[in-house]
Amino acid sequence: MIEWAIIGGGIHGCTAATFLIKSGKTSIDRLRIIDLYDKPMARWRRNTKRIGMEYLRSPVVHHIDVHPLSLQKYSDSAKSRDLYGYYKRPQLDFFNDHSENVLYEINIQKAWKQGKVVSVKRNERWVLTLESGEQIMAENIIVAISVNEQPMIPEWAHKRAFHIFDEQIPDFKKLKPPVVIVGGGITAAHTAVAVSQLFPGKTTLLKRHPFRVHFFDSDPGWLGPKNQTGFRKIEDYQQRREVIKAARHKGSITQELFYKLARFQKRNELQIISGEPIKMNETTITMKDHSNIQAKTVILATGFKSSLPSQPWLQKLILNENLQCAHCGYPIVNESLEWCPHLFVMGPLAELEIGPIARNISGARQAAERIVANL
Ligand SMILES: Cc1cc2nc3c(=O)[nH]c(=O)nc-3n(C[C@H](O)[C@H](O)[C@H](O)COP(=O)(O)OP(=O)(O)OC[C@H]3O[C@@H](n4cnc5c(N)ncnc54)[C@H](O)[C@@H]3O)c2cc1C
Repeated sequence: MIEWAIIGGGIHGCTAATFLIKSGKTSIDRLRIIDLYDKPMARWRRNTKRIGMEYLRSPVVHHIDVHPLSLQKYSDSAKSRDLYGYYKRPQLDFFNDHSENVLYEINIQKAWKQGKVVSVKRNERWVLTLESGEQIMAENIIVAISVNEQPMIPEWAHKRAFHIFDEQIPDFKKLKPPVVIVGGGITAAHTAVAVSQLFPGKTTLLKRHPFRVHFFDSDPGWLGPKNQTGFRKIEDYQQRREVIKAARHKGSITQELFYKLARFQKRNELQIISGEPIKMNETTITMKDHSNIQAKTVILATGFKSSLPSQPWLQKLILNENLQCAHCGYPIVNESLEWCPHLFVMGPLAELEIGPIARNISGARQAAERIVANL
């Protein structure tokens, strides 16, 4: 029997582990982190590397360690120039090094369990069953799975395109040009930059809306009491969902990426087209206005479905434990992010309590803080 089981070892699950251990609320031998991958934050590393992201969008104070200045101090000690711009956004490799260092400090490997959770039941304590049949008993659970395995695939592209965050995709160097990247947000922009460097003049970025330029994916007021206080006073969860939708700058890009794309476009290395695709075949995308775009490869950078993660065990758990969900399907939890006694959530699952930042690194920090503060 262990004290804590964390389902999901991405940024969120790892932040929770760090806060639990460093606050002394548990010890590493009384904790398990169960994850599909063999290493912490594997999906984060894969996705960010794949799109060639050089710097994080978020500032230096957003990381997985407890002390807000931990990453800043790490930078000072490395005497490096790994922080970018006014908001000191960390370079990806540097952020990953720091995370690895923090996880090494808490000896995370001791708690790591590779496997897929397929059932969670309560039997005096929680019983987690893995796909292998192995069972883990825990006093408390944190569900830290994301929506990052629910890619959004538009109907017109169903069979002939791949999603940038599919488990396996070909090496960009081996793509067949012309290449079309579909999407108007930051992932599409990074991908377009990476691909047009390989196939200048044979890369198109196809988007449905004008570029939405914002520093962050929601207003910084959402990081603290300025916006959070009012949000928490909203009793109607449907209204909270509407506020979250309106606050998130979905499909937005940073100013520096906007200018980068413009430079590539000016040099005719990248074509940028706005419009509504309706169908595609092996060589062509047909648009609603009947124009055509040549495409031998189509990469979708269309984000993720926003619905509640559709893992069957989660649906069963909701039914068995009669867990409260809002109209949008997402959990209604208390201030400590507890869904029912000894069952906590983070990330998108905590969105109706944490607000628009819930999916981000800042949301992971605030969720971990809240869980730990009330133990
Ligand atoms: C390209 C990209 C760039 C981003 N940049 C930033 C940024 O700069 N700043 C910022 O704040 N946010 C950023 N984000 C948003 C967010 O911080 C990341 O998506 C982050 O990785 C989310 O972490 P997570 O732990 O919720 O999800 P994930 O990394 O998806 O981790 C969830 C884990 O749960 C595991 N899991 C799922 N189901 C099961 C199961 N049944 N059993 C066992 N394990 C399971 C998975 O294996 C996975 O490892 C970015 C997102 C993307 C995609």
